[in-house]
Amino acid sequence: MSMAGEIPAVSGDTTWITCEPTAVRSLGVYIHYPFCVRKCAYCDFLSAPGDDAARKAYLEALIREIRGQKSLFEESVIRSVFIGGGTPSLMEPDEFAELASALRGTAGDWEADAEWTIEANPGTVTQDKARCWREQGVNRVSMGMQASQDRLLRRIGRIHVMEDVRQSVRILREAGFDNLNLDLMMGLPDQSREDWQETLREALALEPTHLSCYSLIVEDGTPLKNMVESGQMLLPDEDTEREMYADTIRILDAAGYKQYEISNFAEPGRESRHNLSYWDLSEYIGLGLGASSYLDGRRIKNTSDLRQYIKEEHPERLAVVEETLNRQDRMSEWMFLGLRKTAGVSDTDFKEMFGQSFDEIYPEQIAKLLWDGLLERKAGRLCLTRRGLDLANIVFEAFV
Ligand code: SF4
Repeated sequence: MSMAGEIPAVSGDTTWITCEPTAVRSLGVYIHYPFCVRKCAYCDFLSAPGDDAARKAYLEALIREIRGQKSLFEESVIRSVFIGGGTPSLMEPDEFAELASALRGTAGDWEADAEWTIEANPGTVTQDKARCWREQGVNRVSMGMQASQDRLLRRIGRIHVMEDVRQSVRILREAGFDNLNLDLMMGLPDQSREDWQETLREALALEPTHLSCYSLIVEDGTPLKNMVESGQMLLPDEDTEREMYADTIRILDAAGYKQYEISNFAEPGRESRHNLSYWDLSEYIGLGLGASSYLDGRRIKNTSDLRQYIKEEHPERLAVVEETLNRQDRMSEWMFLGLRKTAGVSDTDFKEMFGQSFDEIYPEQIAKLLWDGLLERKAGRLCLTRRGLDLANIVFEAFV
């Protein structure tokens, strides 16, 4: 089996994860597809180019893992599915149909309005693929547009140009997709504030239902990090980045998109159900290489070793429990994840889950953050202020 690019091995003991049977579980499902055409300069995700044999063997292992989780699926109702990567849109229609039918055949019950998203990269979307996704039940596509300037896309090593984004959107619309997210990135090397405003306008012209606007993070070990450190690439300064974020909120609000999380904006009713489940501390299972799950108060992680994953007859047995959250941990996570949402956290919900008010558990933290103007109270809820959105990390750290 040959596999270009480096996929790190998982360390530590492996344990076969079992879950306590619960009453019907509402479950989010994340499926990881780790292959890409080539590695982008900034990317530290678990992804790499792979040849046909590696892709075929991976898909077979993934299907074995899905079937291996039959007992968990039997006690669950699927709330959302997100097929991410990597580049899941690299899968050929027959490969995708095989994966989708394994999932549908194993996961019995689905909520009536279950959200099923596939992540797609412009330049890899074809009519056949889009038609196949629709036929198999996918109802949402999330596309990595990133920027509208070809020179910036080249800088960060993306395989596409802006015209590919437009072409992909046309194909998706023709196939019947009306729920479309575009991922955009601010703070790119050589990106000016005007570039960013133009990117937002170009994205809006494509009439997505949802926009995710992330700041570029320069990760250790990436080619981008070397280029920034050696001065080959210049990043926008902090003030410019803050202005870009303010532009995002202003321009998207004027266009009718509601900011519902620090980086996420949607038309009313089009918030991502899958993303919300992470911030609501709801249960989800991660399937595929390196995927994470949150089940029964435990954070569980699949192996990140592709060879090990492919070879294993029961890939689900390679997952390890990384952390069991006690009550204190769950309260803390519930607060700092929930505060990412612009609706904030409700004290009634907190009491229902933990039997006490968040003001009893975190009196000093809340008082200080209110005093500093980072949090505000709204009808029994605590939310980030506009200043809190800019300084959200300070808020989150207070609850850790
Ligand atoms: S397409 Fe996405 S996952 Fe693949 S290398 Fe680029 S950033 Fe990473």
